[in-house]
Amino acid sequence: MSLHREPDGTRYSVLVCRDVTSNIEKERQLEATTRQLEHIASHDDLTGVPNRAEMSRFLDAALETARKTDRRVGVLHIDLDEFKQINDTHGHPAGDAVLKATAERLRRALRKEDLVARVGGDEFVVICGNLTGLNDLREIGGALLDAVNGPVKWQNGSLGCQISVGAALYDGQSTSAEDLLLQSDFALYEVKRKRRGRLATYDAELHRKHARTTDLQADLLKAIRNKDLSFYFQPVVAQQPGLVRGMETLVRWHHPTDGLITPDELIPLAQSINVIAELDMLAIDAALDLKVKLNEWGYDSILTSFNASSELLAHPDFCDRLLSGLSFRDLTTDDIIVEVIESVVFESHGVATPFVKTISDLDNFGIFTVLDDFGSGNAGIAQLAKLAIRGVKFDKSICLSILEDPTVAIVYKTLIGLCNELDLRMVTEGVETQEQAERLRELGCTNMQGYLLGKPMPEDALRRWLDDYTASAIAPEERPRYLKAN
Ligand code: C2E
Ligand code: CA
Ligand code: CA
Repeated sequence: MSLHREPDGTRYSVLVCRDVTSNIEKERQLEATTRQLEHIASHDDLTGVPNRAEMSRFLDAALETARKTDRRVGVLHIDLDEFKQINDTHGHPAGDAVLKATAERLRRALRKEDLVARVGGDEFVVICGNLTGLNDLREIGGALLDAVNGPVKWQNGSLGCQISVGAALYDGQSTSAEDLLLQSDFALYEVKRKRRGRLATYDAELHRKHARTTDLQADLLKAIRNKDLSFYFQPVVAQQPGLVRGMETLVRWHHPTDGLITPDELIPLAQSINVIAELDMLAIDAALDLKVKLNEWGYDSILTSFNASSELLAHPDFCDRLLSGLSFRDLTTDDIIVEVIESVVFESHGVATPFVKTISDLDNFGIFTVLDDFGSGNAGIAQLAKLAIRGVKFDKSICLSILEDPTVAIVYKTLIGLCNELDLRMVTEGVETQEQAERLRELGCTNMQGYLLGKPMPEDALRRWLDDYTASAIAPEERPRYLKAN
């Protein structure tokens, strides 16, 4: 607009107008697109709930508010139980249906001010602000369990849907967003380990446990880097004609303050900090070093074995490391055996895992792999013939029930027949009594491992054990006293 004045003093103004409707329309479109883009960037495609980035922003803001008031913030870490099995059995569309249903049920069960986000494959995080204490959070967690746990319709039937929940509360002091997420995740891990389908709260006891785990993780990392782990060896014996056939390498950790830590605790700990392949590489060295010693001591026919985790089999250096370890010590590929547990070779329902490729590579080099814990669960027995597996180790659960449960004996006998047909070597683990050994022999398996014959022992004890065992010949009644006591 402009103002003008005529020489006679008349004033007038000029107003220039342009039709900008189309511009406004464009702006609206742009704004809508921006909002859509923002939504895409902050939400999960499949379920439509916020994603991890959005959850982080929301949690930061909730904590900010809580720090200024006496209200609390809670985090619920949620994980679907048996999700992998649903995917494996019914396919990915079924898995997607369960995820969508879970997200929707969570969303509906929550209060308006709470947020649910999908932060991983089958992992959700719920952030609840404005709480008075842990009881509020427990109540919300309980309501979520009630709302989610239940079948999901799928095609003409239904799929099981169950969650486990770990809860942690901002305590009004120094907890950061990252701490809260770690704490709720730790609580979730506890539920998953103990009894699924429930809620666990990060309380004082879990806090102590968490602190110990964190310390142990740091100590273990140091111990592995400093090669400060010990390896024990347990004999595999052929009861007729009484020869020692093998020595299995089993890891032990002598912790400076906590004492001896066994694989039950050690292996999951190593896995939790991604050092299990490194640990296994140390076991390879220990197995190869022992083989050299056995040869020096005159026990050339005894082979050594080590346990390979899936992480080791997936490690790009694994085969090279094993082969160079053998040639460095002037050993051959016949001198060593790799033990791999069933679940590494087969997923549920006998589906072969990608690790069968490594096993076949090993076989091409002339290195034998045996299937460990055989008969304990999900073996793809039907697939055994197709794989480069050269032997099996029957799980100790078989030994435990072989005398009491006639069905176990029948199944065991059938498995032995099958292995014989496939020309697989067999060892039965966990033999503790003469009666068990007797029964196993009757049923057709003569290679045994267990406390009856020899416990896992350090190298110096092993030398003594070997000399005594060999000297005492084979008959059980002729064994040295300390062996019987085992
Ligand atoms: P595994 O490979 O099945 O080893 C046999 C386990 O049974 C050993 O437990 C052994 O001490 C125990 N055992 C032996 N004889 C008897 C018996 O007569 N009765 C009973 N009740 N138990 C017996 P350990 O040494 O605690 O090892 C447990 C598992 O940890 C091993 O099971 C193996 O899967 C894993 N493991 C051990 N060392 C390593 C390693 O260096 N790397 C990897 N990846 N896993 C390892
Ligand atoms: Ca083993
Ligand atoms: Ca085993």
